[in-house]
Amino acid sequence: MRKINIAVDGYSSCGKSTLAKQIAEILGYLYIDSGAMYRAITLHGIKTGSIIGGKVDVEELKTQLTEVHVVLQYDPDSKRSYPILNGENVDKEIHSMEVANAVSKVSEIKEVREKLVNLQKKTAESKGVVMDGRDIGTVVIPSAELKLFMTADTNVRAERRYEELKNRGTKVGYLDILNNIKSRDERDSKRELSPLVQAEDAIILDNTHLTPEEQLTFAIGLINNLVSEQEA
Ligand code: C5P
Repeated sequence: MRKINIAVDGYSSCGKSTLAKQIAEILGYLYIDSGAMYRAITLHGIKTGSIIGGKVDVEELKTQLTEVHVVLQYDPDSKRSYPILNGENVDKEIHSMEVANAVSKVSEIKEVREKLVNLQKKTAESKGVVMDGRDIGTVVIPSAELKLFMTADTNVRAERRYEELKNRGTKVGYLDILNNIKSRDERDSKRELSPLVQAEDAIILDNTHLTPEEQLTFAIGLINNLVSEQEA
């Protein structure tokens, strides 16, 4: 079967990575969490002191970009990809509230986007990629055969993220999560460079009232239709 690329964009904490990961596993595709890359650079800034208390020293962070190596490394045992920042697995650290509160500021920096978008575009060249983020269908893989744009009620998203972080062992309050989601959505949508917008040819997936199984069935149905159309 001919491989395609799939772009999954949308608002914060909509379950984009859950769905993208499931699709990739079913199809045997490569899953790329582009948000993890922005989070890893943010973590680097926090570790080196160019980000303090959510304030980003943009010029300082820019000078550090050449020393930041971010890769997503696939682990065949757990069948998961882990973000590796300069050789270190930072999977847990990048999901802290400290990172979440600064990442949208870091992702506005032109040089940061250039570095990561180039890496992401290269990964998608060989097809068979499911990538989730904010600008995947519009900027990174505008030629993606399937583009999903995910959304859900803000309170429902905050509740789901609260449960997820609790299960990961991260202590954080519900209201902090709700405020973080709202402010990231606003910043990501209003920024000048590659803002979060729905690609014209994207299919909207509002999962407010859907279970993960229902949304997966919906997405797989779309993929099957697309592939059989292409093979007809
Ligand atoms: O997907 P996730 O919530 O982990 O993304 C974290 C942040 O990274 C987003 O709020 C956004 O600021 C940035 N991002 C982006 N472009 C992407 C993916 C993420 O600007 N393609």
